[in-house]
Amino acid sequence: MTSRISRRTFLGASAAAVAAVSFPAFAVNPFMIPKKWDRTVDILVIGAGGAGLSAAITAKEAGVKNVVIVEKTAFPGGNTTRAGGGFNAAIKADYEKLGIKDSPELHASQTLAAGDYRGNPEIVKKMTRLAPESVQWLKDHGVKFQDRIYQIYGGLYPRARNPLGPRGSAYIQTLYAVCGKEGIPVEVNTKVVAVIREKPFEGRVLGVEVEKGGKREFIRATYGVVAAAGGFGANAKLCGLHDLRLEKLGTTNQPGATGEVLNDLIDIGAQTTDLDYIQCIPGGLPGKPYPNLFTHVDRFIFTNIEGKRFCHEDARRDVLRDAMLAQPKMLAWTIVDADGFELQKNSKGPENEAARKAGTLKIGNTVEELAKQMEVDPATLKATIDTYNKAVDTKKDPVGRAPSMLKNKIIKAPFYAGMVTMKRHHTMGGVVINTDAQVIGRDGKVIPGLYAAGEITGVVHGTNRVGGNAMADIFTYGRVAGMSAAKKL
Ligand SMILES: Cc1cc2nc3c(=O)[nH]c(=O)nc-3n(C[C@H](O)[C@H](O)[C@H](O)COP(=O)(O)OP(=O)(O)OC[C@H]3O[C@@H](n4cnc5c(N)ncnc54)[C@H](O)[C@@H]3O)c2cc1C
Repeated sequence: MTSRISRRTFLGASAAAVAAVSFPAFAVNPFMIPKKWDRTVDILVIGAGGAGLSAAITAKEAGVKNVVIVEKTAFPGGNTTRAGGGFNAAIKADYEKLGIKDSPELHASQTLAAGDYRGNPEIVKKMTRLAPESVQWLKDHGVKFQDRIYQIYGGLYPRARNPLGPRGSAYIQTLYAVCGKEGIPVEVNTKVVAVIREKPFEGRVLGVEVEKGGKREFIRATYGVVAAAGGFGANAKLCGLHDLRLEKLGTTNQPGATGEVLNDLIDIGAQTTDLDYIQCIPGGLPGKPYPNLFTHVDRFIFTNIEGKRFCHEDARRDVLRDAMLAQPKMLAWTIVDADGFELQKNSKGPENEAARKAGTLKIGNTVEELAKQMEVDPATLKATIDTYNKAVDTKKDPVGRAPSMLKNKIIKAPFYAGMVTMKRHHTMGGVVINTDAQVIGRDGKVIPGLYAAGEITGVVHGTNRVGGNAMADIFTYGRVAGMSAAKKL
């Protein structure tokens, strides 16, 4: 074995701080090449979320025999399972049916602008160009989609579609079944603890070290390793290191979204970018159920706990985050009428009943009755809703909502208010890749044998991810990474 080398010797100051804050230091050594590998595969995919499953299937269908996915939790899916599933793609038949102008080029320029031009233009253009193909690829593999095209929260333009079936799980269930048919093992409860490279910061990535049931195993990957281990939104300390306001917030993420594979890649020389940009979206108060009433932007308004609107609801997600965190107690109400409530897919059943019992969902037959339930001055809430309804008529919103999002008044009883605060949701930063999903080292060169896709990468979304763009990213760059690994690029 090569000699043990301390990680911190190699890390720059900020990366060392990240390692020190977020992970048990020096648990494993990425430069410890085993004398004997426990087993050998062709391609090893880390993470069974949307990016990992699509990478593995693509590689297998390209003719690679032995593709294996390792997943640290007990189930495949990651955050992709939790996703609403809203998927942005500028598909001609869809936008023509809607009677609006759209194109992959417009999708790209809006994505770049929404991320303050910190996304890599070539990477973004490839994503928006291939996003329609990714939708078709999912259909070809059995995913069925709803017909409705809409503007998702933080989506900035109506180009999102959802799968039929249980939201993000619909993608995972279908692709997991494809893995079964294609003979791609998904090894759960198997955690990658090191990515192994030939030499410190040099040479090929050879494989990984995993931990399963308390035992360690070295797996050689002759074609390469695809890192698709997701983001770090569930790692409060690491998020807090970058944005202190966020450390005490809850998260929408699955508990495994902790970012240790990102750290493993930093250890072997990967370049990172944009780790400071962490997205939040509204969610329930810690430990309390809540009804999700904010998916369809043209249907709801936010008020603070005084019953006053504080931002235009079609704003960028970072703008919405900052506006809500600046409100009294960092709380807001999401208000819809009966039609808006009906439209929300999650707004029925046990989730709602639990929220009502917990006091986070209020219902009133009149606006004044709702206000009383919310412990808000009825006259203030009435004035807020009247002003909004007038804006729907005049197409001029004093808070700044776009005319296209001033479509539906809040007029039909009963009226509903769901209490929300912000939650850590998506980490925009991660490793740098090129358009072939090869990971770039801090020396500016491709790290041979290492590919990455999905939320672990940091070059797509810039400062602010557009709602619905993660699905476009993971299924597009997942497929690109799988193809590049299959070609041994
Ligand atoms: C509640 C919620 C709703 C969302 N809704 C939408 C939406 O409607 N539209 C949209 O575009 N985006 C949405 N997003 C964002 C989107 O879901 C994610 O960005 C995306 O699913 C990430 O996919 P991924 O494949 O990169 O990672 P994931 O799906 O998170 O998969 C990564 C996998 O890697 C595993 N892993 C991590 N570390 C290791 C390790 N050391 N060893 C082995 N395995 C490991 C994880 O357990 C996980 O299963 C939503 C996110 C959340 C949380």
